[in-house]
Amino acid sequence: DHESRPAQSSSSCFVKKGEIKGGRRNNFGAKKATEIETGESPYVQSLASSDEKERVRWDDNVDYFIQKVATVPTQELLPANADVLEGVDDLVQLSYLNEPSVLHNLQCRYSKDIIYSKAGPILVAVNPFKDVRIYGSDFITAYREKLLDSPHVYAVADAAYNEMMTDETNQSIIIRFTMVEENKVLFLYISGESGAGKTETAKITMQYLAALGGGSGGIESEILQTSCILEAFGNAKTARNDNSSRFGKLIDIHFGATGQICSAKIQICRLRLKRASDYKYLNHGDCLEIHNVDDAQKFHILMDAFNTVKICKENQEHAFEMLAAVLWLGNISFHVTDKQDHIEVVADEAVTNAASLLGCSEQDLLLALSTRKVKAGKDEVTKTLTLQQATDTRDALAKFIYASLFDWLVEKINLSLTMGKQNTGRVISILDIYGFESFKTNSFEQFCINYANERLQQHLVRHLFKLGQEEYELDGIDGTKVDFKDNKDCLDMFEKKPTGLISLLDEVSNFPKATGSTFAAKLKQHLNTNHYFKEERSGTFSIRHYAGEVIYDTGEFLEKNRDLLPSDIVHLLSSCASQLPEYFASTLLKQSQNQESKLMQLGMLACHKQHVSSELKAQLFKLMQHLESTTPHFIHCIKPNSKQIPGLFEKDLALEQLRFSGVLEVVRIWRYGYPTRITHQEFARRYGLLLPKKTACQDPLSISIAILLQFGILPERYQVGFTKLYFRAGQIGELEDVRRQI
Ligand code: ATP
Ligand code: MG
Repeated sequence: DHESRPAQSSSSCFVKKGEIKGGRRNNFGAKKATEIETGESPYVQSLASSDEKERVRWDDNVDYFIQKVATVPTQELLPANADVLEGVDDLVQLSYLNEPSVLHNLQCRYSKDIIYSKAGPILVAVNPFKDVRIYGSDFITAYREKLLDSPHVYAVADAAYNEMMTDETNQSIIIRFTMVEENKVLFLYISGESGAGKTETAKITMQYLAALGGGSGGIESEILQTSCILEAFGNAKTARNDNSSRFGKLIDIHFGATGQICSAKIQICRLRLKRASDYKYLNHGDCLEIHNVDDAQKFHILMDAFNTVKICKENQEHAFEMLAAVLWLGNISFHVTDKQDHIEVVADEAVTNAASLLGCSEQDLLLALSTRKVKAGKDEVTKTLTLQQATDTRDALAKFIYASLFDWLVEKINLSLTMGKQNTGRVISILDIYGFESFKTNSFEQFCINYANERLQQHLVRHLFKLGQEEYELDGIDGTKVDFKDNKDCLDMFEKKPTGLISLLDEVSNFPKATGSTFAAKLKQHLNTNHYFKEERSGTFSIRHYAGEVIYDTGEFLEKNRDLLPSDIVHLLSSCASQLPEYFASTLLKQSQNQESKLMQLGMLACHKQHVSSELKAQLFKLMQHLESTTPHFIHCIKPNSKQIPGLFEKDLALEQLRFSGVLEVVRIWRYGYPTRITHQEFARRYGLLLPKKTACQDPLSISIAILLQFGILPERYQVGFTKLYFRAGQIGELEDVRRQI
């Protein structure tokens, strides 16, 4: 069949629905998802129709000239968009907003390497997993000078930048954890699941802003190199992303500051390093190499970054010493000496090297790893550790050093970025957190990561939907009600006191003898009727997150939440001759001054002021307060395939992310609602001058209405509220055009 391709028009063309068979994460109930068939164009043309059936024709997926014909139930079809709308910039422009059409639009653009699209107020970025050549100074200039206006991160950054420079209200692009209290704060919030491209997008945004704020060299490289260091120490390969962020960052870019590059080289021969495969900690993951990643080259980039960010040579050496110490600690082994499983440390090169790098005697290290002093009444007794206790102690020490090293680096970087630079008060913050995660086995880390994502999702949802609707109601407007998915109930399940997940975890963590099973039982007791909670096989439970269901294993929940370090270890570190271990210990001791005596009696100290999950909750609350005072800009990243390869667009995966992120709902509300709001006063001031003179003395509302009539704005394009005027998307642009012409 060599017929030419049918012209698509909304009257005779449809898109096919389909079903996600065995949806990736939908284990919770009977909810059936509909979707187009993977790989095939969703467009079909109607040939004939009867009551409930439609005879349709469509292009074969493989051979463009072959066409398929079938009769399908009418209910399986949805109206398609006209040909001219194929691949439009903004999903809002689509006449039919059904899921297959939206997906087709994104896929159509993606196949041409157009990775950015607009969804009303949100920029959607589909991860290309390859170099798409739409970045760099030429593109920066083009977006700055408005020579290009297609959707791009640069366009978002530019809009944010302009708003920051001209507007009175606080703005936000989310990049460092500092609380900014005053002036113009611009906020960019980058969301998306793990591997979707948030960190890359944050870097691209920083690239643009750094170029505007600092010109070439200087601050640009300094800020950009910061990411390189933080990623080197704070990212890891996971099943979902080869370069997955294990920390969240909020970076504030203050405008007007400059910096200089100083260069120096570091020597690493003092670290007594061996091959990566010789270290037990590096062997756990069974992947010493990552496809397409050249470690040596990355290491040189890191060294350059250190120099650019002005981390001095001495500090660079300290940092690498600590890394080496962590690796050697991992190699320390024990042998069991009696039936009670008591141990002795094997005194080999691992102990010698770790002790030397930490700056303590081998004997002290051996002792700290094999014994613990505990209080018995007024006395103190020294107990020999069992194999499990000793292994835990060794790993806790390594973890503490690594975590402290990361915090210390952030401190140094911040010092370098802010030193000698004046605070102009104009700030752009970019937030890039760890994305939603769901693995085969999920532990406390995923619990925290997914909780943080749940919190931010709530902010996005509230901002985009609720505030809009509430404002309509208060202002007496009949805003078309659009239903939307709210994750408030799930979030409440985390945060509610005293029976929310975090409160319960806190409570159980306070009992030294409690285990993961105690926690699981407690959850069952309090949450079994909660719609978002489900008890799974023993010791596990699942949560129905906005982004899908995740099953958590409570096995190490309590230990990780308590995050304790034996006091003996802290004292060992304080007595070390090397600078960093001593600094890490004193920082910990300072904050643990008021720690409860129960822990002390057990010979332990907590590494945090509160339990880890409560601390996270408090941090998120602070962050939310910060966000509330800003006008955010949103970028949502989408992961087109789970193989991390270019050119593959898996529709079911993309659809799931679109649905769960609420992007589709935003588009709906944006289109049917009135996204542009202006007070009567402002509107009258801006356009009132264009009216005949005699109306000038009237009140702002009368002037506004006169303007609307004068400009012939159609009544369905606006609504008049008690305090503001509400316009459909794009209407103000048209008004501005008229204004310019007059
Ligand atoms: P996580 O939540 O795990 O930290 P993430 O959303 O931050 O994930 P990234 O690390 O930003 O994900 O992206 C994963 C990979 O995708 C990158 O290492 C890069 O290879 C690729 N990538 C993302 N965005 C782009 C882009 N705009 N251009 C080219 N490649 C990209
Ligand atoms: Mg990341």
